[in-house]
Amino acid sequence: MKEVFLCKYGEIVLKGANKRYFEDMLCRELRRRAANYGDFEISRAQSTIYIEPKDEFCDMDGMFESARKAFGIVAIARAAVCEKNMDSILQTAREYIPQFLVGKRTFKVEGKRSDKMFCKNSMEIAMEVGGELLSCCQPIRVDVHHPEIVVKVEVREHYAYVHAGQFKGAGGMPVGSNGTGLLLLSGGIDSPVAGYMMAKRGVRIEAIHFESFPYTSERAREKVLELAGLVSAYAGDINVHVVSLTHIQEELVKSCDEDYFTLLLRRYMMAIADKAARKFKCGALITGESLGQVASQTMEALNVTNCMTDLPVFRPCIGMDKEEIVQISHKIGTFETSIQPFEDCCTVFTPKHPRTRPELYKVEREEQKLPFDELVEEALAGMYRVQIKARY
Ligand code: ATP
Ligand code: MG
Repeated sequence: MKEVFLCKYGEIVLKGANKRYFEDMLCRELRRRAANYGDFEISRAQSTIYIEPKDEFCDMDGMFESARKAFGIVAIARAAVCEKNMDSILQTAREYIPQFLVGKRTFKVEGKRSDKMFCKNSMEIAMEVGGELLSCCQPIRVDVHHPEIVVKVEVREHYAYVHAGQFKGAGGMPVGSNGTGLLLLSGGIDSPVAGYMMAKRGVRIEAIHFESFPYTSERAREKVLELAGLVSAYAGDINVHVVSLTHIQEELVKSCDEDYFTLLLRRYMMAIADKAARKFKCGALITGESLGQVASQTMEALNVTNCMTDLPVFRPCIGMDKEEIVQISHKIGTFETSIQPFEDCCTVFTPKHPRTRPELYKVEREEQKLPFDELVEEALAGMYRVQIKARY
């Protein structure tokens, strides 16, 4: 019996004249994913994308899990395909559905007929298939109000499809449909989550990571690249641009008031990220900042760093509690890597009394003790790229 996946999309349906553009993008994304799991045909019709294996060597489970990570898809059904006649539909239901009913007490069948020429209407299809399953799957019974499982029969343009309910997809919009953003990626919990959340809204991700070798280690960098790899299972290929802040930090320590270290460093980060974003044609910066989480994330502190760029800064975690961010990091599989204890450039040379209500003119006065533009250019000149292939 041939199995296929029927992918349903959400917001894209609302895109009117642009719907096709979004659908094509989603098909391309699914084709890229499918390449790892065998020879699949990806097509679309009637607001559904079909993923069909072309031979028996396809890894169906692998493809299913990967498709569930593709943004833009709200639900996926794993269905058996059959000819469009009641004999085939009943036989397919009898052979395919009982495995899903094991241990269940109640079910119902829903019929759906997008081919209005089909010989039975939706209600008749549901009744006949329900009767067939009752006779072969005792002691299960029908409960139309609160069934434990809903069996669906969809009679579509060319074939009929029988399945035992659909699974939740990743939601959101296809990656690439909403521009490219530069993610400031640290080794922490928040920034990988921020990258995931913006990718979910269709943003393609480039990443920039600041290190401070030898104060930060080789392994701290490896950890960040691993985090990018984990996010790439959702977001696709990610370039991680690595920038050294070692010289800048050493100069800050030599010349500036310790209380301002973190703020000044973050201003350098924003200024460098701004320039890098323009170079890589990114329309926005993305950070994992959350209001009030640490001294550098009070409203005043954010203001002092935000003014280093004219680009929009997306901070999807800004209104979230740490616990909520942690929950997402568990869901996307980054948590265990994020909590590995390696130093970050923000955690070396940290002030004992960081300013939580900084005044811009005082920060600027400290900053003027160093040749800001020169140091930024020097850091950018040493920037190098690590390409992370999507872990589809
Ligand atoms: P995370 O926020 O990722 O859990 P963190 O809490 O250690 O890491 P914060 O000090 O909260 O980092 O930094 C706030 C944000 O600044 C991060 O979410 C990230 O976007 C950016 N950032 C911090 N350190 C770095 C770094 N070394 N490289 C790139 N971006 C960084
Ligand atoms: Mg943080």
